[in-house]
Amino acid sequence: MKVLVLLGAPGAGKGTQADILARNLGLPRIATGDLFRSAVRAGTPLGVEAKAYMERGEFVPDEITVRMLLQRISAPDAARGVILDGFPRNRAQAEALEAALAARGAQVESALYIEVPEADLLQRLSGRWLCQAHGHTYHDTAYPPRSPGVCDVDGSPLAQRDDDRPEIVAARLRNQLGSLEEVVEFYRPKGLLRTVDGRRP
Ligand code: ADP
Repeated sequence: MKVLVLLGAPGAGKGTQADILARNLGLPRIATGDLFRSAVRAGTPLGVEAKAYMERGEFVPDEITVRMLLQRISAPDAARGVILDGFPRNRAQAEALEAALAARGAQVESALYIEVPEADLLQRLSGRWLCQAHGHTYHDTAYPPRSPGVCDVDGSPLAQRDDDRPEIVAARLRNQLGSLEEVVEFYRPKGLLRTVDGRRP
């Protein structure tokens, strides 16, 4: 089982790169944020529990997150491998993943860290818009759609994620940079970390 972990702050471009890697490698991209958002939309017990944390820009507790992720990577489409986007987010999650993979004779092959300075992150996140149908991403200044508020690809309306609103963005960043560092320092001594400059085109 080939397991790649993508690391980066919110807005670093993990989702974009994960999609490209998933296509090129023929592996599913598994994003815990997406799993939580669809649980919230579906109104499942998991979604109900996660919603309050997400709205505050806080992490959902490890116990819930780890259980959901391990269940997802046990699905048949994940047998050959996975690209993890948004997990692990702290040391405890990284250890839980390591143990679960070891139990099936696997391990993380590589942790790809997309590095972007904090000032760029704030600016990127608060201008981000997503298409409602398929999540195609746009940006107020860096990558505006051809006609305002409408997706170039499928014509669906664009919306801002609730947690991309400027007042939430700063809290999300503060909350996440510290634990990102923890995960980076978990993989670095194992020789698994590869750092990429996230400002390059
Ligand atoms: P962001 O890049 O802002 O974290 P995501 O889509 O990855 O966006 O996640 C959205 C929200 O889902 C997070 O703010 C958090 O509440 C929750 N979440 C996602 N992944 C995790 C995780 N590994 N651990 C805890 N909470 C998570």
